[in-house]
Amino acid sequence: MKCSSRLTRAVLSCWVFLVYYISALKTAVAVKVFIPPNSKTKGCTVSFPYASYHSYSSKFFPNCDKEYYAKQYYIALKDKMLNDFRINTAFHILAYDDHSEPIVPDLLLENQISFLNSVFGKHGITFNVKKVYVNNTHFRKRLNVPFCNREDIGNGICSLMCNTSTTNYDGGDCVDVDKFGCNRTSIGNNICNQNCNFKIFKYDGGDCCLEQEKPVENCVDPSNKGLRWYSYAEYKDMAFKQSGIEVFNVGFTSMPDCKWCGGMTTAPFVPWGAWKNRQTSGSILRDITIGGPQNSDIVKGGGAILLHEVGHALGLGHTFIGVEAGSFNMGGGPFCKGDGPMKNHQCLERNQNSRTWSLGDLCPDTLPSPVAFGCRGDKIKDTALTPAKDCDGNRWVNFTKNNFMGFNYLQAGCKAEFTMCQYSKMRCTLDDVYSSWQSLPQSLIQPSTVVLEPIAELTNASSVQLLFAAPLNVGLRDGNKSGSNLLSFQIERKSILEEKVIVMNTKEQNVFQGQLVVYVDKTVLPGTTYVYRVRAVNPKNGRAGHSFSYSSRLIHIPRALPSPSPASSDRNKTKNPQSDDGILIVIIVAAVMIILPIFVFVIHGNWNSLSVLSHSCYNCKRRYFTREYERGTSFDLTTESGGKEYTIL
Ligand SMILES: [Zn+2]
Repeated sequence: MKCSSRLTRAVLSCWVFLVYYISALKTAVAVKVFIPPNSKTKGCTVSFPYASYHSYSSKFFPNCDKEYYAKQYYIALKDKMLNDFRINTAFHILAYDDHSEPIVPDLLLENQISFLNSVFGKHGITFNVKKVYVNNTHFRKRLNVPFCNREDIGNGICSLMCNTSTTNYDGGDCVDVDKFGCNRTSIGNNICNQNCNFKIFKYDGGDCCLEQEKPVENCVDPSNKGLRWYSYAEYKDMAFKQSGIEVFNVGFTSMPDCKWCGGMTTAPFVPWGAWKNRQTSGSILRDITIGGPQNSDIVKGGGAILLHEVGHALGLGHTFIGVEAGSFNMGGGPFCKGDGPMKNHQCLERNQNSRTWSLGDLCPDTLPSPVAFGCRGDKIKDTALTPAKDCDGNRWVNFTKNNFMGFNYLQAGCKAEFTMCQYSKMRCTLDDVYSSWQSLPQSLIQPSTVVLEPIAELTNASSVQLLFAAPLNVGLRDGNKSGSNLLSFQIERKSILEEKVIVMNTKEQNVFQGQLVVYVDKTVLPGTTYVYRVRAVNPKNGRAGHSFSYSSRLIHIPRALPSPSPASSDRNKTKNPQSDDGILIVIIVAAVMIILPIFVFVIHGNWNSLSVLSHSCYNCKRRYFTREYERGTSFDLTTESGGKEYTIL
């Protein structure tokens, strides 16, 4: 476009038009994302501090926790329609500078890897583990204090996570320093005096960090390089060499003894994409937790703690979340209906007696549970339950036991497991977030796995509209969410009375993750009931994904159009049959149909804008259908038939 007028006004208007033109063009090419129909989890928002224990922020609701996606992955997993997913994993093993004394012996590492693969491998998730030896004597000799940072030490506020003997109780913030009886004359005498090793005494005047005073044992001054401990962030920055986009980073460190000194994970749904960054991604485990169930006598949790952390990394929350998060993690009672950080009741799970609800882990096949310790086989002592009673004040009877996302697996003799919902959510998260972790060669990867359930609706008496989300794992091969894959969709239609299947193909198109795909079938016959299913085809490798999905309900086409009312018929009869009115209307309609697109094209400069206009209309239809969908189906995993109700094809 040329802005060449000499008149200021004209130039101004030209610029205004140009700005409008550019912004309109942007809008026109924006991809519409499929918005799942209303469900129990839609609109469920979770606020801090609960959110920090459940992997999401209040602004972000993970796709794989939405009913629409969770249900499809559950069905696909159960029906074995999902491709295997082999995760590129790096185990970072600290050792001394001379490569001696790795922090976890090789036999225990191998047992841990076998345990991981045996549990996750049941449903096609395996770990391709690369052992990365991190030879660093400084870190190898020191302890990692979980969730504590140098800035928190000695700031006058007692920080719970820093309150260990390793930090001299938060640099003295958490203790009455006077009780230690520091002899002030000994401060700065070049001999480390632990009674004065607090911030208020400038850490014995620096004596405890002097080289001859063994700083690795005595130095607690956070500003000193010889500090006897380090933080998660420092460890990751030193050890992790690859970003979280390329690989699942797992590190092992020594830790002090404390309640939360086991493992930590950067969940995929925390804001700012921390999982992607080398310095913040992955999981860190305490060295003594690594091994297999056969090592339970020497390995804390018998190797299950890493599996628990992998569960978090793949989007799972604790099974006791909501019921107990209040008292166990943060103080305070259980969050029951109407209290705690719940914004609404859409994320609630039914409590054990079905009368009340608790905020749960959003897996219907894990019952709301207390934190349970003290396992001996299947028996858990009542006294080991926190809280002791549920939201109705009843003693716990039915709750989820021996689950990797609870805690009672920590005791020897507990055999933990994941439920089907948990497996399917983790598999969904791999597609949704971590597609770039796939370690299979490109030639074996099928970009399209699960095509999501089409929502089918009769739009008028002669056409059916299908709306569905493009697969979640497209366009993510390089960890870049804005990527796309060239796919076409095969739509199969069958009348419920015949065996014949009609196959329709959409054009190949670049689709983005979860993009709204719309297909209108105008070839339906009156008086017929149809079912549809959809699958994605990857034209690059010529293969369709194992990805059939099923129409949400049967679509019945009415036998005939409603007949015109007698009054209007009579009125028509009185018209002159030779009148040219009809031709005039046709001319006006044709003129509008020609002029409108030209007008839109001039404004937006792109024919895509027409589809944007029509999309808004699709949404109107979909809103109507959504209500039908809600009434017609319920997401109950225990009775879900795997879509078989519609498996007529
Ligand atoms: Zn946890």
